[in-house]
Amino acid sequence: MVYWMSRDQRVADNWALLWAQQEALIHQKGLLVVFCMIPDYPGATSRHYSFMCKGLEELRGKLNQYNIDFRILEQSPEAILPQFLATIDAHLLVSDFDPLRIKQQWKKKLIACLKIPLHEVDTHNIVPAWIISDKKEYAAYTLRPKIKRVLDDYLTDIPAVQPHPFNWNKAPLEVPQTFPGESVACQKTEAYPWIQAGEAAAHLAALNFVQQRLGNYTKIRNNPCLDGQSGLSPYLHFGQLSPQRLAWMVSGSALPADTKEAFFEELVVRRELADNFCYYEPAYDRVAGFPDWARKTLDQHRNDKRDYVYSLTELEKGTTHEMLWNACQQDLVQSGKLHGFLRMYWAKKILEWTPDPEMALEYAITLNDRYSLDGRDPNGYTGIAWSLGGVHDRAWPERSVFGKIRYMNEAGCRRKFDVDGYIDTVLTRADVCFCSNALRGNERNKDER
Ligand SMILES: Cc1cc2nc3c(=O)[nH]c(=O)nc-3n(C[C@H](O)[C@H](O)[C@H](O)COP(=O)(O)OP(=O)(O)OC[C@H]3O[C@@H](n4cnc5c(N)ncnc54)[C@H](O)[C@@H]3O)c2cc1C
Repeated sequence: MVYWMSRDQRVADNWALLWAQQEALIHQKGLLVVFCMIPDYPGATSRHYSFMCKGLEELRGKLNQYNIDFRILEQSPEAILPQFLATIDAHLLVSDFDPLRIKQQWKKKLIACLKIPLHEVDTHNIVPAWIISDKKEYAAYTLRPKIKRVLDDYLTDIPAVQPHPFNWNKAPLEVPQTFPGESVACQKTEAYPWIQAGEAAAHLAALNFVQQRLGNYTKIRNNPCLDGQSGLSPYLHFGQLSPQRLAWMVSGSALPADTKEAFFEELVVRRELADNFCYYEPAYDRVAGFPDWARKTLDQHRNDKRDYVYSLTELEKGTTHEMLWNACQQDLVQSGKLHGFLRMYWAKKILEWTPDPEMALEYAITLNDRYSLDGRDPNGYTGIAWSLGGVHDRAWPERSVFGKIRYMNEAGCRRKFDVDGYIDTVLTRADVCFCSNALRGNERNKDER
């Protein structure tokens, strides 16, 4: 029995692994987990690979304790798995679920040449994406009641993996073993200092958040100067933390119902809505994926004069006229993370400062995927489509460039939090950074304000 692990890189709380083990036990077979590592995953940088490889190294050790072998195969799954599975005489392939195009295409090509059954298990959503809805949902208000109806059935504790009693026959295997840290993709990399990779660190961070910080979530989560959000998205993105485990911890806590509900709105409703969008909307990363009203209004304002137009390089370097935006970009580059509230403002300004929505979308996705540790995720494509293209949102009063897309600006941010304090924090953190000169040199803009 083989579990091809991809999105959900953890041993604990992994329904795909549990399913594979159950099948292996029933049929008295050995169990093997494989991970297909490609060195050029779209948008991924060495920092992403570093975070992922550290997690995989820990995972290998943990699997071995359960007598479950782990192999990294350094090719894309459709290229290597059919032959690999034939070589080891595999009986069943189990995979986890990912709605993104590249993963869906791999799976499609794989199925076309597989000689054994493939079972797909959605262990990333609490209610599996194809069960909660069979169509693209219009907005959170259409998905929310569907989730609420069945959440109690799906939000359960998760059993543990068992030490596996059967070995597998490794003899015919000619593919040499690669350890995560030795993979070509993982050479010469550095991760972010503020976050430790791996399942154990993820579990600790989740526990710490639920016990120490979730109580303040409703009060401070929208303030980028305060540590109000969980910061768990990189763990969730790489599957080092199970969303169901996190939700189970929260539901079992003694916190007030409104706090739990506010967090579930993000962790469950918004996150599963993002998977729903990417699963059922093939153009999730293109303007064609925006709703009709949004495409129409953006078209009507296509030729509106832009007061500022910036190239991708200028945006990437954070050298615009707006200090807050530059600070956001610098924050993102330095730390691999931007606060959720600022992500909206950051993306909307890209729409305002580029020649057309198509270019804005391309730039926002490029920068988000390149610099966010949690990038290349359905949440990212959906968050950007919400910001630039009204996905899951409604029409707002019409204005230049944006049309009826919801507008955000620095003045609005000032009403919410201490913008200058945020900029100063980013500047102070930046000992040596190409962006800091741009920020410091922009005093004129500060005075004018
Ligand atoms: C322009 C833009 C780009 C974004 N890019 C990404 C991205 O690349 N990767 C990513 O994971 N999220 C992205 N988001 C969604 C959201 O901003 C982040 O999930 C959140 O800021 C992560 O921080 P946290 O874990 O501290 O959040 P918390 O507030 O602690 O929330 C807990 C979890 O709930 C989920 N969640 C929270 N907010 C949202 C949301 N709006 N939509 C979907 N799920 C949500 C995430 O899994 C998050 O980790 C983006 C949003 C926008 C507007």
